[in-house]
Amino acid sequence: MANESLRQQLALLYKLQEHDRELLSFHQRLQTIPRNIAQLEASVTKYKDEIKAKSDELAEVEKAQRSKNAELEMNAVQREKYKEEQREVTSNEAYTALENQIEYLDEKDFETEEEILELMEKGEQLKSELTELEAEVVREDAKTTEKTTEFRAEQKNLQTEINEKLEQRNTFLPKIDKKLSTQYHRWMERHKTDFVALGKNGTCGSCRLTIQPQNLKEAEKYEKLVYCSNCKRVLYVEPSDPNTPFP
Ligand SMILES: [Zn+2]
Repeated sequence: MANESLRQQLALLYKLQEHDRELLSFHQRLQTIPRNIAQLEASVTKYKDEIKAKSDELAEVEKAQRSKNAELEMNAVQREKYKEEQREVTSNEAYTALENQIEYLDEKDFETEEEILELMEKGEQLKSELTELEAEVVREDAKTTEKTTEFRAEQKNLQTEINEKLEQRNTFLPKIDKKLSTQYHRWMERHKTDFVALGKNGTCGSCRLTIQPQNLKEAEKYEKLVYCSNCKRVLYVEPSDPNTPFP
C-alpha cells in the first residue's frame, strides 16, 4: 500500500517520542543522585562537627578543672607555710593575723571545690552526650555508606539504560523522514511535550478532545500529516484494520 510508509513513519516517530520520554526521565533521575549523596554526606558531617564542638568544650572544662586543682595545691603549700610561721611567732597579733590568712585560704578553697564539682558534673554530662553522638555518627555513617552504594549502583544502571536507549534510538532514527524528524525536534525544543498524539476511539490521546470527523477520516488514510485541531499535535490514529500494528 502506498500510504503504508506514512503510517510506519508515524509509528517510528511515536517510538522515538517514547524513547525520548524515557531518556528524559532517566536523565532527570540521574541528576538527583549526586544531590542525594551530598545530602547523606552532609548529615554525617553535621554529626562530626557537633562531636568536634563538644570535644572542644570538654577539653575546656578539663583544662579549667586542672587549673582549679592547681589553685588548691598552691593554697595547700601556702597554708603549710602559714602554719609553720604560726609555730614560730611570739605575739598573739601575729598569730591571729596568720590565722586570718589561713581562714581566707579555707574560704577560697571551699569556693574552688564547689567550682570543681560543677566542672566535673559538666564534664560528665558532655562525656555522655559525646558517647551518644559517637554512636549516632557510627549509625549515620553506616546508613550513608549503604545508601551511597545503592545510589552508585542505580547511577550505573541508569547510565547503562541510557546508553541502550540511545543505541536503539540511533538504529531507527535514520528511518524517519528527515523533514518529519526535524519538525519533531523543533516542537520538542519549543514545547517540551509530546509531538505525536495517539488517536483512539475518535479521541486525541493528548488533549482528550474528540477528533473532528473530517480530520479523523483524513488521519485514517495516512496520506498526509493530520494535526489535532485543538492541541496542534500530529495525530497518529488507530488503523481501521485491527491486524495493522498500533501504535
Ligand atoms: Zn489534541
